[in-house]
Amino acid sequence: MQNIFLSHDVDWRRQGPPVEHVLERKDRFDAEMFANTKPEDLYRNIPKYMELEEKFGIRSTFFFRTLYENGNVEDYEDDIQTLQQGNWEIGLHTDPQSVNNIEKIRQEKEKLESLTKKTNYWEQSSLSKL
Ligand SMILES: [Zn+2]
Repeated sequence: MQNIFLSHDVDWRRQGPPVEHVLERKDRFDAEMFANTKPEDLYRNIPKYMELEEKFGIRSTFFFRTLYENGNVEDYEDDIQTLQQGNWEIGLHTDPQSVNNIEKIRQEKEKLESLTKKTNYWEQSSLSKL
């Protein structure tokens, strides 16, 4: 049996990256989709991934940051709760600045947990020892 782990990094604030960032990467998108989608919605794909994964009967892990440039993880509270209700796993995408600072990681973990309102999902990760 082969197991596959599927995960998504939620790297941008809920409003998406700056328009300049999107325009610089225009070639990455399907031309028709790019023409018919507002720039702030091009990176807004959590519901689409949920729909796809539901169709195939699979669940992945969404790694949320707690520090977003010009954004706030609280903006994702509804998405996080919807994901949890559907049995998706929520993980912490630590800030690169926190990698060598266990206290910063602990603070990020607690901030994300305040949105998930449960702590048991940490039990399977190395962060459970924090
Ligand atoms: Zn990332």
